[in-house]
Amino acid sequence: MNIIPLSIPTPFYVGDVNVYLIKDDPLTLIDVGPKTPEAADALRSELARNGVQFSDVRRIVLTHAHEDHCGLAKLVRDEAKDAEVFIHEWETGHLFGRLAHEDHRRLMLLSGVPDAVFEDMRLLYEEVSLLTDSLDASDLQPLRDEMELEFESGSLRVPHTPGHTPGSCSFAREADRTLICGDCILKRITPNPILAPDPLHPSKRFHSLAEYLVSLARLRSLAPTLAYGGHGGPVTDFEEIFHRYVRAIDDRQKKVIALVPNGGITAYEVAQKLFPNALGHDVHRFLAISEAIAHLDYAESENKVGVEIANGVEVYRSN
Ligand SMILES: [Zn+2]
Ligand SMILES: [Zn+2]
Repeated sequence: MNIIPLSIPTPFYVGDVNVYLIKDDPLTLIDVGPKTPEAADALRSELARNGVQFSDVRRIVLTHAHEDHCGLAKLVRDEAKDAEVFIHEWETGHLFGRLAHEDHRRLMLLSGVPDAVFEDMRLLYEEVSLLTDSLDASDLQPLRDEMELEFESGSLRVPHTPGHTPGSCSFAREADRTLICGDCILKRITPNPILAPDPLHPSKRFHSLAEYLVSLARLRSLAPTLAYGGHGGPVTDFEEIFHRYVRAIDDRQKKVIALVPNGGITAYEVAQKLFPNALGHDVHRFLAISEAIAHLDYAESENKVGVEIANGVEVYRSN
């Protein structure tokens, strides 16, 4: 089973996204890239270089529902005449432009984000969601933890690896311990645990950082010899990246806990102190707020800070 990484441009700060062509039967793409003319052209020509056309694709598998990874799924699917599209069910709630605005709004306001700031972010995300075409839920096949994607010459096992998003999945070729991990593993940066409603209890937040740490340990337990991430080159030294991530998360935990005073602070205020330059009008603001919330949730679950609700907003205090 030949795994071929293809680099596809995105309009995002993160740069190119990795798409993986699996040249086997059924011919499979893991992720597809954003819905921009540049990405569609690049995907077409990268596939052509490997002797493949959109119409040859039989199966599209999505690591998660971010626009830079899933945007072209419908275009490829339609040209490929009903190739199957697989994604974890926990991604479908906010997949393909169906972002649960009300749930997000409630979670943001609870974290002390002013309504005007949320509105501003919502407008920005409406633009971002244009980089994905809608597919109906009935067009999607569910990815499930531990299922196998069969190929003529082998199979990929699916560890469900939540954290970056609730339904993020990875793919393991056990014969040589090769992983494809989407945005769970990024060669140069630590992945963001993104704010999301809990898929099982949408009124609550998904505990993205705690979940991410479990997923990271699970991937490590597979002793990967090679890990292909969602952006950047392949990782050959998984132990190095594992320890680097754990150190970076630990450092940030300490920083966040130190920012919580006796007098109380909201997650939004922590985000402003943590990333004084990142709260302009772009996607970094959402990522910065997500990061602060994820770390406060984690610190609270570890009993390092306390939280209470005052006037509809969560206020954190040092323990
Ligand atoms: Zn992502
Ligand atoms: Zn990504």
